[in-house]
Amino acid sequence: MNKLSFTITGNLADPWKRSVYPAELTIEDGRIKTIRPITDDTPVPEEFILPGFVDSHVHIESSMLVPSEFARLAVVHGTVGTVSDPHEIANVCGMSGVEFMIENGNRVPFKFNFGAPSCVPATVFETAGAALNSEDVEKLLAKEEIRYLSEMMNFPGVLFKDPEVMKKIAAAHKLGKPVDGHAPGLRGEEAKQYIEAGISTDHECFTADEALDKLQHGMKILIREGSAAKNFEALIELLDDHPKMILFCSDDKHPDSLVAGHINQLCARAVAR
Ligand SMILES: [Zn+2]
Repeated sequence: MNKLSFTITGNLADPWKRSVYPAELTIEDGRIKTIRPITDDTPVPEEFILPGFVDSHVHIESSMLVPSEFARLAVVHGTVGTVSDPHEIANVCGMSGVEFMIENGNRVPFKFNFGAPSCVPATVFETAGAALNSEDVEKLLAKEEIRYLSEMMNFPGVLFKDPEVMKKIAAAHKLGKPVDGHAPGLRGEEAKQYIEAGISTDHECFTADEALDKLQHGMKILIREGSAAKNFEALIELLDDHPKMILFCSDDKHPDSLVAGHINQLCARAVAR
């Protein structure tokens, strides 16, 4: 068997068809070439074949590891990619920190989807090591490796239409790159305004009511369960009614808990329910 070309059979979990069926997969040069449902009585192993997991919002820095080492631990649990905001390193060393994360992540086949940090420093009261203004953010967004504007924490700035904040959002929209949100506790008309500014995700909901408020205006809700915040129990009931609008994320994953498991744990808990 060639390492990159082989066939495998098992029970395929197909998220698009929302079903599980026996199938044979042909892999050529490391890529899935064909998926053939097995309809005759060919024996199929009991194992399941699952697509890879993506952590939809995680700060790699919280793992206290460089991206390539984070990947080494995460891939063991079936994680093949992340959506990652490098704002922690950016708060310490600015643009060069973000560039380091991209460069180090490129050393491994794991897919880090890095964003341009929208709020460095996080507040004006902070004495950070660096600041990223709207011009810096625009420069980062222009890079192919930067996929989105990350974690718009300054939600008052969005509601009051702060010019610097609006410039950052406009720069992302101009390039067709999405804007990731962060709006803990925002409800009703304010949530609607925040979403209408063109911000498409939120990982800060801690009650189902808050999440429903945001879902009805078209925002995708990330159920966060990491080393710090834990919102799985409060939000998981939303998954049945809004399967295409709900994602799983950890936000922060300390090394000891990354060793124990990752998005696979959340999927297992969801299935168990
Ligand atoms: Zn975050």
